[in-house]
Amino acid sequence: MFNNVFDANTWAAVPFHFWSVAIFVLGCGIGSFLNVCIYRMPIGESIVWPPSHCPNCQYHIPWYLNIPLLTWVALRGKCANCAQPISFRYFAVELLTGIVFLGVWLAYGRHTPGAALCYCVLLAGFIVASFIDFEHYIIPDEITLGGAAVGFILSFFVPSLHHATKASLSLERSFWGILIGAGIVYFILRVAKFFLGRETWVLAPDSTVLFGENGIKLPDKEVPFEDLFYRKTDAIVLRAKSARAGERSWENVPVRLTPVKLTIGEEQFDPETVPHLEVVTSELVVPREAMGLGDVKFMAAIGAFFGWEGALFSLMFSSVVGVAVTGILYLAKPGGHSSRIPYGPYIAIAATGWLFGGKELVQWWLYR
Ligand SMILES: [Zn+2]
Repeated sequence: MFNNVFDANTWAAVPFHFWSVAIFVLGCGIGSFLNVCIYRMPIGESIVWPPSHCPNCQYHIPWYLNIPLLTWVALRGKCANCAQPISFRYFAVELLTGIVFLGVWLAYGRHTPGAALCYCVLLAGFIVASFIDFEHYIIPDEITLGGAAVGFILSFFVPSLHHATKASLSLERSFWGILIGAGIVYFILRVAKFFLGRETWVLAPDSTVLFGENGIKLPDKEVPFEDLFYRKTDAIVLRAKSARAGERSWENVPVRLTPVKLTIGEEQFDPETVPHLEVVTSELVVPREAMGLGDVKFMAAIGAFFGWEGALFSLMFSSVVGVAVTGILYLAKPGGHSSRIPYGPYIAIAATGWLFGGKELVQWWLYR
Protein backbone atom coordinates (compact mmCIF):
# COMPACT_ATOMS: atom_id res chain seq x y z
CA MET A 1 0.00 0.00 0.00
CA PHE A 2 2.78 2.40 0.95
CA ASN A 3 4.60 1.58 -2.28
CA ASN A 4 1.60 2.94 -4.17
CA VAL A 5 1.34 6.09 -2.12
CA PHE A 6 4.97 6.94 -2.69
CA ASP A 7 5.03 6.01 -6.38
CA ALA A 8 5.17 8.98 -8.77
CA ASN A 9 2.82 7.19 -11.18
CA THR A 10 0.00 7.08 -8.64
CA TRP A 11 0.15 10.84 -8.30
CA ALA A 12 0.44 11.37 -12.06
CA ALA A 13 -3.14 10.11 -12.52
CA VAL A 14 -4.27 13.63 -11.57
CA PRO A 15 -2.77 16.83 -13.11
CA PHE A 16 0.35 17.92 -11.22
CA HIS A 17 -0.91 21.36 -10.31
CA PHE A 18 -4.09 19.98 -8.80
CA TRP A 19 -1.73 18.52 -6.20
CA SER A 20 0.17 21.82 -6.00
CA VAL A 21 -3.01 23.61 -4.91
CA ALA A 22 -3.96 20.77 -2.59
CA ILE A 23 -0.51 20.80 -0.96
CA PHE A 24 -0.65 24.58 -0.44
CA VAL A 25 -4.07 24.32 1.22
CA LEU A 26 -2.85 21.37 3.29
CA GLY A 27 0.19 23.43 4.29
CA CYS A 28 -1.96 26.31 5.53
CA GLY A 29 -4.07 23.85 7.52
CA ILE A 30 -0.98 22.21 9.02
CA GLY A 31 0.32 25.73 9.76
CA SER A 32 -2.78 26.30 11.85
CA PHE A 33 -1.83 23.22 13.90
CA LEU A 34 1.80 24.37 14.10
CA ASN A 35 0.54 27.59 15.72
CA VAL A 36 -0.99 25.46 18.45
CA CYS A 37 2.33 23.60 18.89
CA ILE A 38 4.33 26.85 19.02
CA TYR A 39 2.02 28.29 21.65
CA ARG A 40 1.45 25.22 23.81
CA MET A 41 4.59 23.04 23.65
CA PRO A 42 6.92 25.39 25.57
CA ILE A 43 4.39 25.84 28.38
CA GLY A 44 3.76 22.11 28.61
CA GLU A 45 0.13 22.10 27.48
CA SER A 46 -1.35 19.28 25.43
CA ILE A 47 -1.36 20.01 21.71
CA VAL A 48 -4.54 18.01 21.08
CA TRP A 49 -6.78 19.02 23.97
CA PRO A 50 -8.57 21.35 24.61
CA PRO A 51 -9.47 22.42 21.07
CA SER A 52 -8.57 25.90 19.82
CA HIS A 53 -9.65 28.63 22.14
CA CYS A 54 -9.01 32.33 22.58
CA PRO A 55 -6.17 32.70 25.12
CA ASN A 56 -7.85 35.83 26.49
CA CYS A 57 -11.53 34.92 26.99
CA GLN A 58 -11.30 31.09 26.59
CA TYR A 59 -13.95 31.35 23.85
CA HIS A 60 -14.08 28.00 22.07
CA ILE A 61 -13.38 28.68 18.39
CA PRO A 62 -15.96 26.87 16.21
CA TRP A 63 -14.76 25.03 13.10
CA TYR A 64 -16.22 27.60 10.69
CA LEU A 65 -14.13 30.32 12.36
CA ASN A 66 -11.01 28.16 12.34
CA ILE A 67 -10.16 28.28 8.65
CA PRO A 68 -6.49 29.03 7.99
CA LEU A 69 -5.61 32.47 6.59
CA LEU A 70 -9.23 33.42 5.82
CA THR A 71 -10.41 33.64 9.42
CA TRP A 72 -7.62 35.94 10.50
CA VAL A 73 -8.32 38.26 7.56
CA ALA A 74 -12.12 38.11 7.94
CA LEU A 75 -11.95 38.91 11.66
CA ARG A 76 -9.24 41.54 11.00
CA GLY A 77 -6.98 39.86 13.54
CA LYS A 78 -9.40 40.00 16.46
CA CYS A 79 -11.16 37.37 18.56
CA ALA A 80 -14.78 36.97 17.37
CA ASN A 81 -15.99 36.96 20.97
CA CYS A 82 -13.91 39.46 22.97
CA ALA A 83 -12.22 41.44 20.16
CA GLN A 84 -8.80 40.90 21.76
CA PRO A 85 -6.15 41.23 18.99
CA ILE A 86 -4.87 37.90 17.67
CA SER A 87 -1.14 37.98 16.90
CA PHE A 88 -0.15 38.37 13.26
CA ARG A 89 2.11 35.39 13.91
CA TYR A 90 -0.88 33.06 13.47
CA PHE A 91 -1.48 34.32 9.96
CA ALA A 92 2.25 34.39 9.14
CA VAL A 93 2.87 30.81 10.28
CA GLU A 94 -0.10 29.52 8.25
CA LEU A 95 1.03 31.33 5.13
CA LEU A 96 4.68 30.37 5.62
CA THR A 97 3.79 26.70 6.02
CA GLY A 98 1.62 26.82 2.89
CA ILE A 99 4.40 28.45 0.85
CA VAL A 100 7.08 26.08 2.16
CA PHE A 101 4.95 22.99 1.39
CA LEU A 102 4.22 24.34 -2.09
CA GLY A 103 7.93 25.05 -2.69
CA VAL A 104 8.93 21.53 -1.68
CA TRP A 105 6.21 20.07 -3.89
CA LEU A 106 7.25 22.10 -6.93
CA ALA A 107 10.89 21.09 -6.43
CA TYR A 108 10.43 17.40 -5.61
CA GLY A 109 6.80 16.40 -6.23
CA ARG A 110 7.09 15.55 -9.91
CA HIS A 111 9.79 12.89 -9.56
CA THR A 112 9.79 11.85 -5.92
CA PRO A 113 6.40 12.73 -4.38
CA GLY A 114 7.14 10.47 -1.41
CA ALA A 115 10.32 12.35 -0.56
CA ALA A 116 8.47 15.66 -1.06
CA LEU A 117 5.91 14.69 1.59
CA CYS A 118 8.70 13.66 3.98
CA TYR A 119 10.44 17.00 3.47
CA CYS A 120 7.13 18.73 4.28
CA VAL A 121 7.09 16.90 7.61
CA LEU A 122 10.65 18.02 8.33
CA LEU A 123 10.01 21.66 7.36
CA ALA A 124 6.89 21.74 9.53
CA GLY A 125 9.19 20.70 12.38
CA PHE A 126 11.64 23.48 11.41
CA ILE A 127 8.90 26.09 11.66
CA VAL A 128 7.83 24.96 15.13
CA ALA A 129 11.45 24.65 16.32
CA SER A 130 12.43 28.08 15.00
CA PHE A 131 9.52 30.00 16.48
CA ILE A 132 9.87 28.28 19.86
CA ASP A 133 13.66 28.65 19.98
CA PHE A 134 13.37 32.30 18.98
CA GLU A 135 11.06 33.06 21.87
CA HIS A 136 12.09 30.58 24.58
CA TYR A 137 15.66 29.56 23.69
CA ILE A 138 14.76 25.88 23.72
CA ILE A 139 13.78 23.34 21.11
CA PRO A 140 11.37 20.76 22.53
CA ASP A 141 12.49 17.11 22.46
CA GLU A 142 9.22 16.22 20.73
CA ILE A 143 10.54 18.09 17.70
CA THR A 144 14.22 17.11 17.81
CA LEU A 145 14.23 13.53 19.11
CA GLY A 146 10.76 12.97 17.65
CA GLY A 147 12.01 14.32 14.32
CA ALA A 148 15.01 11.97 14.33
CA ALA A 149 12.73 8.98 15.01
CA VAL A 150 10.23 10.03 12.34
CA GLY A 151 13.03 10.60 9.81
CA PHE A 152 14.45 7.15 10.48
CA ILE A 153 11.05 5.47 10.15
CA LEU A 154 10.20 7.38 6.96
CA SER A 155 13.55 6.30 5.49
CA PHE A 156 12.25 2.74 5.65
CA PHE A 157 9.03 3.54 3.76
CA VAL A 158 10.51 6.10 1.35
CA PRO A 159 13.99 5.04 0.20
CA SER A 160 14.01 7.89 -2.34
CA LEU A 161 14.49 10.20 0.65
CA HIS A 162 18.12 9.05 0.59
CA HIS A 163 18.40 8.47 -3.17
CA ALA A 164 18.17 4.74 -2.52
CA THR A 165 16.01 2.07 -4.08
CA LYS A 166 16.25 -0.36 -1.18
CA ALA A 167 14.96 0.33 2.33
CA SER A 168 18.06 -1.18 3.93
CA LEU A 169 20.38 1.30 2.21
CA SER A 170 18.08 4.21 3.00
CA LEU A 171 17.97 3.22 6.68
CA GLU A 172 21.72 2.94 6.75
CA ARG A 173 22.14 6.47 5.34
CA SER A 174 19.60 7.84 7.80
CA PHE A 175 21.42 6.13 10.66
CA TRP A 176 24.79 7.63 9.69
CA GLY A 177 23.09 11.00 9.22
CA ILE A 178 21.82 10.91 12.80
CA LEU A 179 25.13 9.73 14.22
CA ILE A 180 27.41 12.09 12.30
CA GLY A 181 25.05 15.09 12.47
CA ALA A 182 24.60 14.86 16.22
CA GLY A 183 28.18 13.71 16.81
CA ILE A 184 29.84 16.68 15.13
CA VAL A 185 27.70 19.24 16.94
CA TYR A 186 28.22 17.45 20.23
CA PHE A 187 31.97 17.51 19.67
CA ILE A 188 31.93 21.24 18.81
CA LEU A 189 29.76 21.86 21.84
CA ARG A 190 32.15 20.08 24.19
CA VAL A 191 35.22 21.79 22.77
CA ALA A 192 33.55 25.23 22.83
CA LYS A 193 32.20 24.61 26.30
CA PHE A 194 35.62 23.55 27.50
CA PHE A 195 37.35 26.65 26.18
CA LEU A 196 34.60 29.27 26.33
CA GLY A 197 31.74 27.69 28.23
CA ARG A 198 32.31 29.30 31.61
CA GLU A 199 33.69 32.44 32.98
CA THR A 200 34.73 33.26 36.49
CA TRP A 201 33.77 36.53 38.05
CA VAL A 202 36.20 37.48 40.79
CA LEU A 203 34.72 39.73 43.48
CA ALA A 204 36.21 41.49 46.44
CA PRO A 205 36.74 39.01 49.33
CA ASP A 206 33.52 38.29 51.24
CA SER A 207 31.22 40.13 48.89
CA THR A 208 27.49 39.81 49.34
CA VAL A 209 25.60 38.51 46.31
CA LEU A 210 21.81 38.64 46.19
CA PHE A 211 19.81 36.21 44.08
CA GLY A 212 16.46 37.84 43.36
CA GLU A 213 13.51 36.76 41.30
CA ASN A 214 14.83 38.12 38.02
CA GLY A 215 18.58 38.22 38.39
CA ILE A 216 21.61 38.52 40.62
CA LYS A 217 22.82 41.64 42.35
CA LEU A 218 26.59 41.99 42.76
CA PRO A 219 28.29 44.81 44.68
CA ASP A 220 28.91 46.72 41.44
CA LYS A 221 26.23 45.53 39.01
CA GLU A 222 22.94 43.71 38.46
CA VAL A 223 22.71 40.92 35.91
CA PRO A 224 19.34 39.52 34.78
CA PHE A 225 19.06 35.71 34.65
CA GLU A 226 18.12 35.90 30.99
CA ASP A 227 21.66 37.08 30.20
CA LEU A 228 23.12 34.10 32.06
CA PHE A 229 20.83 31.15 31.46
CA TYR A 230 20.59 30.01 27.88
CA ARG A 231 19.63 26.41 28.50
CA LYS A 232 18.02 24.52 31.34
CA THR A 233 21.32 22.85 32.18
CA ASP A 234 23.27 26.09 32.57
CA ALA A 235 24.44 26.67 36.12
CA ILE A 236 25.81 29.43 38.26
CA VAL A 237 28.25 27.82 40.69
CA LEU A 238 29.93 29.24 43.76
CA ARG A 239 31.30 28.37 47.17
CA ALA A 240 29.43 30.34 49.81
CA LYS A 241 31.12 31.33 53.05
CA SER A 242 27.59 31.76 54.27
CA ALA A 243 24.18 31.58 52.64
CA ARG A 244 20.76 32.69 53.78
CA ALA A 245 17.29 32.06 52.34
CA GLY A 246 14.21 33.01 54.33
CA GLU A 247 14.59 31.51 57.83
CA ARG A 248 17.33 29.09 56.84
CA SER A 249 21.07 29.67 56.82
CA TRP A 250 24.16 27.66 55.90
CA GLU A 251 27.90 27.96 56.51
CA ASN A 252 30.61 27.14 54.00
CA VAL A 253 28.52 25.27 51.39
CA PRO A 254 28.63 24.85 47.62
CA VAL A 255 25.74 26.61 45.86
CA ARG A 256 24.57 25.75 42.39
CA LEU A 257 21.69 27.40 40.57
CA THR A 258 20.15 26.34 37.25
CA PRO A 259 16.91 27.72 35.78
CA VAL A 260 15.08 24.74 37.28
CA LYS A 261 17.03 23.71 40.36
CA LEU A 262 18.77 25.32 43.31
CA THR A 263 21.26 23.19 45.23
CA ILE A 264 22.66 24.39 48.54
CA GLY A 265 25.02 21.85 50.06
CA GLU A 266 23.17 18.54 49.82
CA GLU A 267 19.72 20.07 49.68
CA GLN A 268 17.71 20.75 46.54
CA PHE A 269 15.03 23.36 45.99
CA ASP A 270 12.77 24.59 43.25
CA PRO A 271 14.12 28.10 42.55
CA GLU A 272 10.53 29.37 42.24
CA THR A 273 9.99 28.62 45.92
CA VAL A 274 13.13 30.51 46.98
CA PRO A 275 12.47 34.09 45.87
CA HIS A 276 15.43 35.49 47.76
CA LEU A 277 18.87 34.06 48.46
CA GLU A 278 21.80 35.92 49.95
CA VAL A 279 25.33 34.53 49.84
CA VAL A 280 28.75 35.72 50.89
CA THR A 281 31.49 34.68 48.50
CA SER A 282 34.52 35.95 46.66
CA GLU A 283 33.94 34.51 43.19
CA LEU A 284 31.29 32.85 41.09
CA VAL A 285 31.35 30.83 37.89
CA VAL A 286 28.69 31.69 35.33
CA PRO A 287 27.75 29.90 32.09
CA ARG A 288 28.53 31.09 28.61
CA GLU A 289 27.00 29.36 25.65
CA ALA A 290 27.28 29.18 21.90
CA MET A 291 25.12 26.16 21.16
CA GLY A 292 23.12 23.85 23.38
CA LEU A 293 22.22 20.20 23.62
CA GLY A 294 19.00 21.08 21.83
CA ASP A 295 21.07 21.87 18.74
CA VAL A 296 22.73 18.43 18.96
CA LYS A 297 19.35 16.70 18.95
CA PHE A 298 18.09 19.05 16.25
CA MET A 299 21.01 18.06 14.04
CA ALA A 300 20.16 14.39 14.63
CA ALA A 301 16.72 15.04 13.14
CA ILE A 302 18.25 16.78 10.12
CA GLY A 303 20.72 13.93 9.59
CA ALA A 304 17.88 11.40 9.76
CA PHE A 305 16.18 13.08 6.79
CA PHE A 306 19.20 14.35 4.80
CA GLY A 307 22.01 11.92 5.58
CA TRP A 308 25.40 13.05 6.84
CA GLU A 309 26.19 15.27 3.83
CA GLY A 310 23.07 17.35 4.38
CA ALA A 311 23.68 17.55 8.12
CA LEU A 312 27.25 18.73 7.57
CA PHE A 313 26.12 21.29 5.01
CA SER A 314 23.42 22.57 7.38
CA LEU A 315 25.92 23.01 10.19
CA MET A 316 28.52 24.82 8.10
CA PHE A 317 26.03 27.00 6.28
CA SER A 318 24.25 27.87 9.54
CA SER A 319 27.29 29.87 10.66
CA VAL A 320 27.10 31.88 7.43
CA VAL A 321 23.38 32.47 8.03
CA GLY A 322 24.16 33.43 11.62
CA VAL A 323 26.73 36.02 10.60
CA ALA A 324 24.39 37.43 7.94
CA VAL A 325 21.39 37.68 10.27
CA THR A 326 23.46 39.22 13.05
CA GLY A 327 24.82 41.76 10.57
CA ILE A 328 21.37 42.67 9.29
CA LEU A 329 20.01 43.01 12.82
CA TYR A 330 22.94 45.20 13.74
CA LEU A 331 22.46 47.45 10.72
CA ALA A 332 18.73 47.70 11.44
CA LYS A 333 19.24 48.58 15.07
CA PRO A 334 22.85 49.18 16.16
CA GLY A 335 23.53 48.15 19.72
CA GLY A 336 19.90 47.35 20.38
CA HIS A 337 20.33 43.61 20.80
CA SER A 338 21.38 41.44 23.66
CA SER A 339 24.02 38.78 23.24
CA ARG A 340 21.35 36.12 23.36
CA ILE A 341 20.64 34.76 19.93
CA PRO A 342 19.07 31.33 19.49
CA TYR A 343 20.98 29.10 17.10
CA GLY A 344 18.16 26.72 16.08
CA PRO A 345 16.60 29.05 13.49
CA TYR A 346 19.95 29.43 11.70
CA ILE A 347 20.30 25.67 11.44
CA ALA A 348 16.72 25.44 10.16
CA ILE A 349 17.32 28.10 7.50
CA ALA A 350 20.60 26.49 6.44
CA ALA A 351 19.00 23.04 6.24
CA THR A 352 16.18 24.47 4.12
CA GLY A 353 18.94 25.77 1.84
CA TRP A 354 20.13 22.17 1.42
CA LEU A 355 16.73 21.31 -0.09
CA PHE A 356 16.64 24.31 -2.39
CA GLY A 357 19.96 24.34 -4.18
CA GLY A 358 22.46 23.43 -1.45
CA LYS A 359 22.70 19.84 -2.60
CA GLU A 360 23.45 20.93 -6.18
CA LEU A 361 25.85 23.61 -4.97
CA VAL A 362 27.93 21.06 -3.04
CA GLN A 363 27.96 18.67 -6.01
CA TRP A 364 29.07 21.47 -8.33
CA TRP A 365 31.79 22.50 -5.88
CA LEU A 366 33.07 18.93 -5.43
CA TYR A 367 33.00 17.83 -9.06
CA ARG A 368 33.42 20.96 -11.13
ZN1 LIG B 1 -11.47 36.10 23.00
